[in-house]
Order: sequence, then C-alpha cells, then structure tokens
Amino acid sequence: MKTVSIIIPCYNEEPTLNILYNALVEMSDSLKNYKFEYLFVNDGSKDNTLNILKELAKKDDRVIYLSLSRNFGKESAMYAGFCNAKGDYITTMDADMQDPPSLLPKMLEIIESGKYDSVATRRVSRKGEPPIRSFFARLFYKIINKISDADIVDGARDYRLMKREMVDAIIAMGEYNRFSKGIFGWIGFKTYWMQYENIERVAGETKWSFWKLFKYSLDGIINFSQAPLSVASWSGIILTLFSFIFIIFVIIRKIIFGDPVAGWPSLVCIITFIGGIQLFCMGIIGQYLSKTYLEVKKRPHYIIGETNGQDIKTIK
Ligand code: UDP
Ligand code: MG
Repeated sequence: MKTVSIIIPCYNEEPTLNILYNALVEMSDSLKNYKFEYLFVNDGSKDNTLNILKELAKKDDRVIYLSLSRNFGKESAMYAGFCNAKGDYITTMDADMQDPPSLLPKMLEIIESGKYDSVATRRVSRKGEPPIRSFFARLFYKIINKISDADIVDGARDYRLMKREMVDAIIAMGEYNRFSKGIFGWIGFKTYWMQYENIERVAGETKWSFWKLFKYSLDGIINFSQAPLSVASWSGIILTLFSFIFIIFVIIRKIIFGDPVAGWPSLVCIITFIGGIQLFCMGIIGQYLSKTYLEVKKRPHYIIGETNGQDIKTIK
C-alpha cells in the first residue's frame, strides 16, 4: 500500500485546523488503498495551534506535528515537512482550505497513470483578491519569466502532488533563501497542470501583507535570475559612453564658440542622476551579496522544538 504525505504549514491557524482536519479525514476515507500521513508543521504560532495539533494527534495516529522553535516562514516550514515526509507521494497544502483536499483523489489518479512525476495546481482566477494585489502578482510573473530560466507559472500554487524522486531533488536544493515556485520549476520533471477557480480562505486572516509579498517577489527574482546584475553593469557602460560623447561636445563647443561659464543647474541634475544610478546599482549588488552572505553561513533552515514523530530530523 502506498503512503501519501500531506505537509501542512500552519502559522496561527487556530480557526481553520479542525475544518481542514475533518476535510482531510473525509477525503482519506474515500481512498481505501492509500495510507495517509498528515504532517502539520507549526511555524512558531502564537495562538492555540500547537495544542489543537496535540489534541488531533492524540485521537488520530495519522497526525504528526513538527513544531518549529520560532516562526521561520512558510518556505522553511515546507522544507521541514519535505525533509521528514515518509510517503511515496508527497504534497504540501495550505491550512486554510485554499488548496482543496477534494482535488487530491483526482491528482492521485493522474500520478498513478505513470505519465507524470507531479500534478500541480494552478488558480485560473484571482477572484476575492484585492485588485491591486492581483495586478502586481501578474506583473511579477511577467517579469520573472522574461529574466529567469526557471519556468514559473502564473497562479501556480505550492499545492502539488509529487513522487518521492522529485521531493528528493527539492531536499537536495539546500539553498537558504528559498523560493519554492522557482525550485519546482528549476528541477524539471514531467508535470501535469490542474486548474481550478480561486477559493477564499475559510477562516482567519492571510499572513501575507502587501509588503511581505513584495519582498518575497524580490527574493524570487534575485534567487532565480542574474538579470538585475546586468542592469547594473549595462547602465554603467551606457552612462560612460554617453559622458564621453558629452565631453567631446563640450570641448568642441568651447573651441568654436568660447563658451562662458554656465550650466550650473544642468550639472547638478547630471550629478544627482548619476549618483542615483550608482547607488541603485550598488544596492542591486548589495542584495546579491547579502544573499550570498546568508548562504555561506550555512545556517539551519529550521529547528524543530517539539514533535510526536519518529526518526525526525530536528535540525537541517
Ligand atoms: N504560513 C506559515 N508561516 C508563515 C506564514 C504562513 O506556515 O510565516 C502558512 C499559513 O499557515 C498557511 C499557508 O502558509 O497554511 C499560506 O498562508 P496564507 O493563507 O496566509 O497565504 P495566502 O493564501 O493569503 O497567500
Ligand atoms: Mg491562504
């Protein structure tokens, strides 16, 4: 009998956990020829999440909780799940029912057909989302697909059923700055895309502010593209060429017309313009450097403080 591991990162998900758990049980009961493992990763929640998980674990031995020592962020929580999932098929799932468990039987059917290594889901609409957020999300996908060689699909969710081999590849991508949508695309494998309409969260609130999402999208760009670095060098080259032309122009004008001292305002404009570009480019380089700094320190991705699981890698 094959085992399916469902990784659920939870951060302050008190209101949603029981709803999700009931849906998971209902779905699992309809699939008699699979064993299930519900791997809840408590990402340093400040509410009652951990206690609810403990209660669930008491009455159901499919429930395994990994409780991180603090809030490490969804990416690290998922990584902790991947490193400790024992199943033949593995998926992550949000705790808020936005990744409907009811899609899983169909996903299993497709992956069992043997033609695909993973079944990924994609929202075709962004109904219920603030329009400004949708606008910037679309813009982000357009930009990143132009400048990165990893294929990053607009509307793709992290909800994706994968074979063991694929998850091993994800674990092997041990980078500290993680951007899963890029990692999934980068490792390749044959993926079937399933589409569904966006579903709003059943209870509680989103953990992503606009600012957090903005920073996350910049992370995605810096982690999967070197294009911003070429912006830095190209703008340097272009400006240098431009200034050469300008110098020649000024010299010739002086020789022919005997130019009086003038042009102070334009000089100030040029200096601030170039200063701005220099700082901007240094900022870009600094972004890459700071990422490199974090990578070379080789800090652990997550630290598990408490768990009911067996053979758990508590630090990795
Ligand atoms: N999450 C997490 N750690 C965090 C933020 C979020 O584990 O620091 C989890 C959260 O509990 C949920 C999933 O990531 O299961 C997606 O979060 P949310 O629904 O808030 O994001 P949205 O769907 O609004 O993008
Ligand atoms: Mg959500």
